[in-house]
Amino acid sequence: MSDTIFHKIIRREIPADIVYEDEHLIAFRDIAPQAPVHVLFVPKTDVATLNDLKPSQADVIGRLTLAAAEYARQQGFAEDGYRVVMNCNGHGGQTVFQVHLHLVAGAPLGRFGT
Ligand code: 5GP
Repeated sequence: MSDTIFHKIIRREIPADIVYEDEHLIAFRDIAPQAPVHVLFVPKTDVATLNDLKPSQADVIGRLTLAAAEYARQQGFAEDGYRVVMNCNGHGGQTVFQVHLHLVAGAPLGRFGT
């Protein structure tokens, strides 16, 4: 297993505000939220970046997106809307090298890139 900060959270070696977990993934609040809701969805399968994802691992990302959408429904902001983002490598702004999906919500976010 790799040893990023997210792996330490999965192994309960450091604390996190965990909002969901199953055998495939974990979701917890970002330590530096960029919006009123900012939750990270992280697979338990080791994949450092989106570049490393194999076609046979499509389910890894599929589960992250489905879990994020279900969380939005359960928390009651699915209809208002939300944004999901995956950063990849330096130009994408990735700082933790275990793939993860950011779910941000809770306020109008503006058009991406503007
Ligand atoms: P990235 O920049 O790789 O796309 O996203 C990494 C995210 O992890 C950042 O938004 C950052 O705030 C968050 N983060 C970094 N360290 C920790 C931590 O120890 N705990 C939590 N909950 N989030 C973290």
